Amino acid sequence: MDCVFCKIINGDIPSTKVYEDDEILAFRDIEPAAPTHILVIPKRHIASAAEIKPEDGALIGHIFAKIADIARLEGIEDAFRVVSNCGRDAGQTVFHLHFHVVGGRELSKWA
Ligand code: AMP
Ligand code: ZN
Repeated sequence: MDCVFCKIINGDIPSTKVYEDDEILAFRDIEPAAPTHILVIPKRHIASAAEIKPEDGALIGHIFAKIADIARLEGIEDAFRVVSNCGRDAGQTVFHLHFHVVGGRELSKWA
């Protein structure tokens, strides 16, 4: 499958890893929108948030618990944003589920 994030998971494309376990990977965004900009992804290919099923609940919970850990490690736990763009017209460019964790600068309500 021609998926850039699957290639990162497989080690075919390099990344700056922040956290990894059997289920998920967190790495720094190559075009950061803020001083901290980390992507958290499941290792299993899910195309977008629109594809999440009830049986993915434990995985998604695990991702969000790790996002909280990562925010603490990055020192942004008091002010950060978690975003998942879903669909091309919403700005999704990589069709492997990912959560942007953005912080380290002032974040206005929607920008
Ligand atoms: P989105 O546009 O919401 O689908 O988010 C995809 C994100 O992946 C963008 O912020 C890109 O900068 C980022 N990205 C694309 N390729 C890479 C890569 N090889 N390593 C790290 N981040 C990447
Ligand atoms: Zn993938």
